[in-house]
Amino acid sequence: MASIFSKIIAGEIPCYKIAEDERFFAFLDINPLAKGHTLVVPKQECDYVFDLDDELLGGLSVFAKKVAKAIEQVIPCKRIGVAVLGLEVPHAHVHLVPLQSEADISFAKPKLQLAKEEMEAVAEAIRAQL
Ligand code: AMP
Repeated sequence: MASIFSKIIAGEIPCYKIAEDERFFAFLDINPLAKGHTLVVPKQECDYVFDLDDELLGGLSVFAKKVAKAIEQVIPCKRIGVAVLGLEVPHAHVHLVPLQSEADISFAKPKLQLAKEEMEAVAEAIRAQL
């Protein structure tokens, strides 16, 4: 069965899309730790990020870098934090989280509740930097 992220990539489930190329896709996390929290995923389904082949893993980092640089232009932050968990969705992905402090990337804290309009506006602003 296709993963939820494959369904997002296929356009079967809506998302706040940030970027896409032949191999990778980026979209806002629906339950963000911070405004601009973005997920970067390979289109190829693979549960565990460290089971990706070396070339794809390298490409994922380079794609994530471009997206992170765009997020930095939009969200005031000290830098973009990177996390890999994969405990909830079995489709490899990298979290990009704008950081003001270490606490901003604590997955144990309550997630932000952002209005649809705010999510759309953030996604559009990040897209405009790409
Ligand atoms: P994890 O697998 O532990 O890295 O967590 C999966 C992440 O995917 C969580 O931060 C969720 O909020 C996020 N997520 C799950 N479903 C969606 C969705 N439909 N759109 C955007 N983000 C999602």
